[in-house]
Amino acid sequence: PEAARLVASRVLDVPDFPKPGVMFKDLMPLFADGKAFREVTDGIVAYHGRDTFDVVVGIEARGFVVAAAIAYAAGVGVVPVRKAGKLPRAAHSVSYALEYGEATLEVHEDAFTAGHRVLVVDDVLATGGTAEATLDLVERAGGTVTGFTVLLELGFLGGRKRLAPRSVHALLTV
Ligand code: IMP
Repeated sequence: PEAARLVASRVLDVPDFPKPGVMFKDLMPLFADGKAFREVTDGIVAYHGRDTFDVVVGIEARGFVVAAAIAYAAGVGVVPVRKAGKLPRAAHSVSYALEYGEATLEVHEDAFTAGHRVLVVDDVLATGGTAEATLDLVERAGGTVTGFTVLLELGFLGGRKRLAPRSVHALLTV
């Protein structure tokens, strides 16, 4: 479809970022193209259905860009999931393993109203560690996850399998 074509045509492959041997997929050109960004945003809202979620969670930092656009288009609010130490009030934390070391994500304890349906979004799904931690975190904070969407899925890294049986929606899988 059109949204997948737009993602494919606006992604830049950056070799050896953030370290040697990694091919980084840069979606900044998509964000910077107003028509394409709107098309992709509307495509995600249409896929899930306008009245199927009450709030959108975005994962720091590029997920914030996507989350805010989707929330605005759907007329709902945004909850940020942030890296450790950034939130000003009491927060739940989930730590997860990286290739080297560990990362921690946090969300405010009062971020979700009971029964609210949460759509979680990010720019890219790679190994799925970030998404898995985020989905756990949202549930720990009392949110009901109804969907997880990314613009771009790196299929060869197995994130979708790691998140099973949760469903993953990607505009484009490479
Ligand atoms: P994962 O935890 O390995 O799935 O990595 C996903 C997280 O890292 C997301 O928050 C992405 O924003 C970021 N990420 C990983 N690889 C890429 C990439 O190639 N391009 C852009 N972001 C990426």
